[in-house]
Amino acid sequence: MAFKDVDRYTFYAGQPQPTAESSGHFESIDPSNGESTCKIYNSSPKSIDAAIQSAQSAFPSWSSTPPVERARILQRAVALLRKHNDALARVETIDTGKPFSETSTVDIVTGADVLEYFANLVGSGGLNGESFRLRPDAMVYTSKEPLGVCAGIGAWNYPIQIALWKSAPCLAAGNCMVYKPSEFTPLHAEYLAGLYREAGVPDGVFNVVYGAGDVGAYLTKHPTIAKVSFTGQISTGKKVAGAAAGEMKYVTMELGGKSPLVVLPDAAVDQAVDVAMMANFYSTGQVCTNGTRVFVPRAMKTSFERVLVEKMKYVRAGDLFNPATNFGPLSSRVHKDKVISYIKHGVASDKATLLCGGPEPPTGLPAALRDGYWVRPTVFTDCTDDMAIVKDEIFGPVMAILAYDAVDEAVGRANATDMGLAAGVVGRDVDACHGVVARLQAGIAWVNTWGESPAEMAVGGWKQSGVGVENGRKGLESWVRNKSTLVEMGGSVATVFSKL
Ligand code: NAD
Repeated sequence: MAFKDVDRYTFYAGQPQPTAESSGHFESIDPSNGESTCKIYNSSPKSIDAAIQSAQSAFPSWSSTPPVERARILQRAVALLRKHNDALARVETIDTGKPFSETSTVDIVTGADVLEYFANLVGSGGLNGESFRLRPDAMVYTSKEPLGVCAGIGAWNYPIQIALWKSAPCLAAGNCMVYKPSEFTPLHAEYLAGLYREAGVPDGVFNVVYGAGDVGAYLTKHPTIAKVSFTGQISTGKKVAGAAAGEMKYVTMELGGKSPLVVLPDAAVDQAVDVAMMANFYSTGQVCTNGTRVFVPRAMKTSFERVLVEKMKYVRAGDLFNPATNFGPLSSRVHKDKVISYIKHGVASDKATLLCGGPEPPTGLPAALRDGYWVRPTVFTDCTDDMAIVKDEIFGPVMAILAYDAVDEAVGRANATDMGLAAGVVGRDVDACHGVVARLQAGIAWVNTWGESPAEMAVGGWKQSGVGVENGRKGLESWVRNKSTLVEMGGSVATVFSKL
């Protein structure tokens, strides 16, 4: 599977459309070395209209295909995703800067799992409605109807996974999709469209448009689009949800977070450090659910920091295709600049204590990678709740350690944020862990682990972190609308207009 120098064009009617009108192009960049991989042609309003039209034409047939037949087609796509796992993982590594050790074991795998889950679900009655006898001579039945043409708008951190988490339930439910990948990581989209096609998904059911916010905004406002499923920043999500609400479109909003990890006093220090590292340095900290506010009992702080500093040597940056590498660059120059400015702010303005890392470029990288967007994994301690590095989503490998004296105090401080995406607890007493989880204001919670998000588990944020969920049985419900039908069987109509 080649990816270098294969330019990308709007994809609709089952193929890339090089002759479709574009509004200029941009370069896709390999973040490990700053080199261009190919040109991406922006979709013009005219070509976005054509992609939407293609989806609209495919909708009547796809939506009336029996769910079990749609499921069979999507299962073939699952098999193709698994067959091409390593080739797709290479594309994701080049596009995102994530180590191959990660993309080859998580990104495509978890996307394929979700497609398999929704195919299985709709193939085994997941779209069935309910029926009940209202009274002896009347019954009600409900059906789950697809919405129509839906838009998927993705962030750059889990490109193919996000594309699959959106398109899997969308297509399984009988909808068609126009998908816009992030302009920073667009390479996966055409491969996914090609795999769907090879599996037998009819032309027009899955389409791709390219570009930045203007393309997303055009899609969001388009009168034919019935629903927008968005993953990205809270500030963008507000614009998208606002525009969609103005047209009464359905939305799912998967937004940012600043999630707390509460280490309980009885926690094993080693285990707490392992969880905290996974919650901060996996994917170079570019995970929406990262547990970046680490609340540690004051009495444990010294030992926690000592073990953490010892284990930081296991964060290994380097050649992304070396199986031992587990830490890549940030995904773009602009994002690297943002993360570095937060680290500088943490030192100079917040005056937190820098335990390890810092704003200087990392040392020891191979010469070929020195122009990439690398930063050091960074830990601040002696943090306070009012610091910018503690309040803002940095979306990079920057951990903030916050000491606490009482568990109630830690829970109160953990909840004192507008965001509520995820939360976690580490402790030996599982009853106590459950007690704390029950009080944490977040849509996703982990006990004694961090980050696993299987297809069966519905995930979504509370407060400003989102609206609705993806995955699990609940994830299907947001791609259908309900129709309730009341059937009168008695032969006479209950009318007030009868003869007195
Ligand atoms: P972003 O908001 O900058 O961009 C997301 C997408 O929105 C991109 O495709 C972008 O082109 C598009 N966009 C920008 N302006 C738009 C507009 N006005 N209308 C429509 N679309 C528009 O986010 P990002 O920087 O790509 O991603 C990082 C953010 O995503 C972080 O905040 C992270 O927490 C969040 N995220 C959340 C989840 C989740 O499941 N909750 C998952 C991954 C990432």
